[in-house]
Amino acid sequence: EAFAKVIDGKSVAKEIRDEITAEISRMKDSIGIVPGLAVILVGDRKDSATYVRNKKKASESVGVNSYEVFLPENSTEEEVLNYISNFNDDPSVHGILIQLPLPSHMNEQNILNAVCIEKDVDGFHPLNIGRLAMRGREPLFVPCTPKGCIELLHRYGVNIKGKRAVVIGRSNIVGMPAALLLQREDATVSVVHSRTKKPEEITKQADIIIAAVGQPNMVRGSWIKPGAVIIDVGINPVEDAKSPRGYKLVGDVCYEEASKIASAITPVPGGVGPMTIAMLLLNTLISAKRAHNFQ
Ligand code: NDP
Repeated sequence: EAFAKVIDGKSVAKEIRDEITAEISRMKDSIGIVPGLAVILVGDRKDSATYVRNKKKASESVGVNSYEVFLPENSTEEEVLNYISNFNDDPSVHGILIQLPLPSHMNEQNILNAVCIEKDVDGFHPLNIGRLAMRGREPLFVPCTPKGCIELLHRYGVNIKGKRAVVIGRSNIVGMPAALLLQREDATVSVVHSRTKKPEEITKQADIIIAAVGQPNMVRGSWIKPGAVIIDVGINPVEDAKSPRGYKLVGDVCYEEASKIASAITPVPGGVGPMTIAMLLLNTLISAKRAHNFQ
């Protein structure tokens, strides 16, 4: 007796990748240039390596040239800064992505600051975030995961203006920019975090919830106002004896309960996840078009 419409991020992401592929081929035919994306991975975290591999595959599938750099865990900050500086100067590279987290001996702030803002396709440079927060300013790039969340709301015709939105989580890469974006879309935004008392009383007022917490099934049906729209960013592995891998992925929202009370909801997997990569490719295309003044 589920009632919520399923927001199918996988198929929207496919649609967007098809649009990007067509744009890139038009660009290639007309000016002989295709977008280039450089990814720097330091260390040998398995999950990070998987993300980088997926980004490469996705890049190639739409016609973006991909350049990867794999550096050992014990690299110095200076070595990473050197690669960034070279990519900053390389006209065939339009986007530079530093796969996070960096090893603990490196200063993440120094490294992210070194990416020139014209190639900051992750949108994490403080200048881009600052502009995102300011009225009347335009960031060159918006962070991919929050941008994907808003894109899903748009493509599903969800009205944001004047609505009450609650973002759960305030990280630099998801929660905080998601809240800024919703505010730019004229929602009235509250942010819930680990020190919030009675979060359910706040989420219960929301017309739109974006959950980016990293706590499996934290948002229960009773936290949700009937008819609310739920965007679940969480990707949490939980034990699952039935799966051959021994685990499955669940969101921050208890899907089974939420789908009986919300009007629309993203599944995990297949919701926000595929949108993040699609937005990275889109940001890379936007960057290349801007660099070559191609409309
Ligand atoms: P972080 O760990 O950086 O941030 C988590 C946020 O949630 C923090 O602001 C924290 O509060 C808050 N929080 C933690 N516990 C609670 C709680 N019990 N109640 C309320 N708030 C809480 O995570 P990320 O933002 O990087 O990622 C969040 C989730 O999204 C993860 O599951 C991650 O895997 C997933 N993710 C998915 C992506 C995708 O493409 N779909 C991309 C990026 C992330 P405080 O600030 O007080 O510590």
